[in-house]
Amino acid sequence: MTPPDLSAWAAGSADTPFVHERAGGSPGPQVLVTALVHGNEISGAIAAGELLASGWRPVSGRVTVAFCNTEAFSRFDAQVPDASRFVDEDMNRVWSPDRLDGGGTSVELARARALRPFVDRCTHLLDLHSMHEPCAPLLITGTLPRNIAFAHGLRSAGRIVIDRGHADGTRMRDYEGGPAGGGRIALLLEAGQHLAPGAAVVARDTLARFLVAAGSCAVDGVPQGWLQPAAPAAAPVVVTHQVVARGMDFRFLGCFSGGEVIARAGTAIAMNCGEPVLTPYDDCVLVMPSLRQLRAGVTTVRLGHAAQMD
Ligand SMILES: [Zn+2]
Repeated sequence: MTPPDLSAWAAGSADTPFVHERAGGSPGPQVLVTALVHGNEISGAIAAGELLASGWRPVSGRVTVAFCNTEAFSRFDAQVPDASRFVDEDMNRVWSPDRLDGGGTSVELARARALRPFVDRCTHLLDLHSMHEPCAPLLITGTLPRNIAFAHGLRSAGRIVIDRGHADGTRMRDYEGGPAGGGRIALLLEAGQHLAPGAAVVARDTLARFLVAAGSCAVDGVPQGWLQPAAPAAAPVVVTHQVVARGMDFRFLGCFSGGEVIARAGTAIAMNCGEPVLTPYDDCVLVMPSLRQLRAGVTTVRLGHAAQMD
């Protein structure tokens, strides 16, 4: 995939660059679709840009599309795609009141502060991402039952991952500020590998399903060709552990791409600076194994187990 040309969206319709609003004819959900929170994750920007370019409008409520870290995206180089993930810091770790209201300065904090009013007011947030490795798609819900139930109803290709976020900062999905914060539906899609064409297919399908489920439009009102066959219902994965590299001497003891189920508790799956990483229970599921960003303190894989849905 080649990165999309977003120049048509630079002048934002809401007086904020790269933010565009589409209003329907009746009151309804306030949907926010975010892409490029990480500047190298282009599948979400492709889907969001196509939605705007198609002239699509919601029947009810308002849909706002925001291309987030456009400064990092503007430096995208297909030869070193990981280099444009961010400029100063990870934009998906700054969404806590102490960071947003604090005195810190960075390209990402400035942009997050500009985008914050749009997040504050939205009743439904879909944050579009992709992954370093060729992993199957994931739909990350956090731990609130309303988000898990909403994600379960979508039947998108993304396997539901229930997690508590990151120790090293708050994601946009985990931000609960603003008047709509207490009841907001907020999901994060990991659509597949960053540059895989399939990631754009998953991003379009999930976005279409999200708009229908939110009540923005009917199922026949989404852009033509976006909906894929409904995915079979799979048990969500509850993340219980994050494996953090102690240093650069970290390696997996298998060729893992995510979704593997390790049958026996106590199975070594990696070596972390000389120490084996053991599965904590039977039927342990590996979530997003990756060594791309390897350094001390980085999460290399999450461990979880299948959950029962009511
Ligand atoms: Zn991302």
